[in-house]
Amino acid sequence: MILRLPRGALVVLIGASGAGKSTFAAAHFQPSQVLSSDAMRALVADDPNDQSATEPAFELLHTLLALRLARARLTVVDATNVERWARERLLAVARRHRRPAAAIVIDLPLEICLERNAARDDRTVPAAAVRRQHATLRRSIGSLAEEGFRQVWRLDAPQSVSEARVELA
Ligand code: GDP
Ligand code: MG
Repeated sequence: MILRLPRGALVVLIGASGAGKSTFAAAHFQPSQVLSSDAMRALVADDPNDQSATEPAFELLHTLLALRLARARLTVVDATNVERWARERLLAVARRHRRPAAAIVIDLPLEICLERNAARDDRTVPAAAVRRQHATLRRSIGSLAEEGFRQVWRLDAPQSVSEARVELA
């Protein structure tokens, strides 16, 4: 699948922990184009896993997103983004700066997310959290277009993820 992104767009990655969002972002985008919640936690708390730093981390993420979209720089948000309210905050920033928004949903089977989450050496989140995120994501998929995403791509198998190509329109 070819993911043809408009220039200067907001690109929202959506997927449970362990789905491969950060890996996908690193494979297809420049580091400066990717704003990850973990990296923001590290910037404000010296620890990407410090959940107590979530609020300032997202404040920083939204601030950087606004500064980049104001300059029409393509920006990828690497966070789970499975909750509608989390996506709405991002979409509001894009609307304010009149930038298009695209969603890339990494919707792998729950078992793969759990397996990869358990095997990772950097950070393992509780299996219950991964199950919850996965279920929340599944409920979201049908309404992403009406939420305001101009383009929605759903990658539902490891092969679709590895074969995906990103192009700029
Ligand atoms: P995130 O939590 O969605 O950001 O997921 P990560 O990108 O951190 O990936 C979680 C784990 O799965 C890591 O250990 C990755 O190395 C692994 N992983 C991610 N993408 C792939 C993939 O396409 N193939 C395989 N085999 N492993 C992957
Ligand atoms: Mg990640």
